[in-house]
Amino acid sequence: MRGLKEKRVLITGGATGIGAATAARFLEEGSRVVVLDCDDEGCRRIKKELPGLAGTICADVSNKEEVDRAFQELDGLLKGLNVLINNAGISLRKPFVDITLDDWCRVMDVNLKGVFYVAQQAARLMDEGEGGVILNMGSTNALVGSHYYASYNASKAGVVELSRSMALELAPKIRVNVVCPGFILTVMQKAEYTPKMLRTCEGKVPLGRLGSPDEVSALFAFLASDDAKFITGQYFVIDGGEIAGGLASQK
Ligand code: NDP
Repeated sequence: MRGLKEKRVLITGGATGIGAATAARFLEEGSRVVVLDCDDEGCRRIKKELPGLAGTICADVSNKEEVDRAFQELDGLLKGLNVLINNAGISLRKPFVDITLDDWCRVMDVNLKGVFYVAQQAARLMDEGEGGVILNMGSTNALVGSHYYASYNASKAGVVELSRSMALELAPKIRVNVVCPGFILTVMQKAEYTPKMLRTCEGKVPLGRLGSPDEVSALFAFLASDDAKFITGQYFVIDGGEIAGGLASQK
């Protein structure tokens, strides 16, 4: 990809899954990458797996004080920021009537408030510098309803609308887009889905399989690159065709 070499990149939730694959991809592109994650052990592990990282920061994106402290640390590590991959998120599978207020708040705190806190800090930093790119993590769950994910779906729909508003206000110096994956096989999925559920998911995907974290990281790299410099305020679905048929896709 053009224009990623030496770019300063922050990836939240980068200790595992899609975030870790994205950290590896940006390192391959010659970027300077810092991973932020609430999993201390995961931060240590990824630093060993990807020795080229410029650093790791242990922080919870849903906690404003921790995000403020993380950006002070980031300043020491990168002295500015060109690309934010705002990826950290959690999922909750529960029937709508059983979702407690605590469940609801936790999902919103991480997936929407966390995205907001981190994006706001990043935008200020990019605005003081040469501008940049913010890529927020959505989901196909932001775009179509699904059983048992009401809080998750609402949080991700919020990310899409937040991102469009940010794109309008932050242009032309900062581009903002959203990546909306479908089923991507990560720890998050393996923890929630039985093998039978995974096979059912595969059956819903026209391309006949779940996606891989590498495939999502390639989309992040493209959207952050100069090849995408006329693209802002959009969401990009990467789902093997799962939601292409609208209602017809629901099996
Ligand atoms: P994983 O659970 O594999 O990785 C997420 C990472 O983020 C973990 O290291 C996790 O730490 C960390 N994290 C969780 N909460 C916080 C927090 N409050 N602050 C900082 N770090 C945190 O997830 P995936 O890679 O599967 O998903 C990444 C993103 O992609 C999420 O936003 C998810 O909603 C989205 N997505 C994923 C899809 C999929 O099919 N996998 C599909 C569509 C969207 P810990 O392990 O300690 O919780």
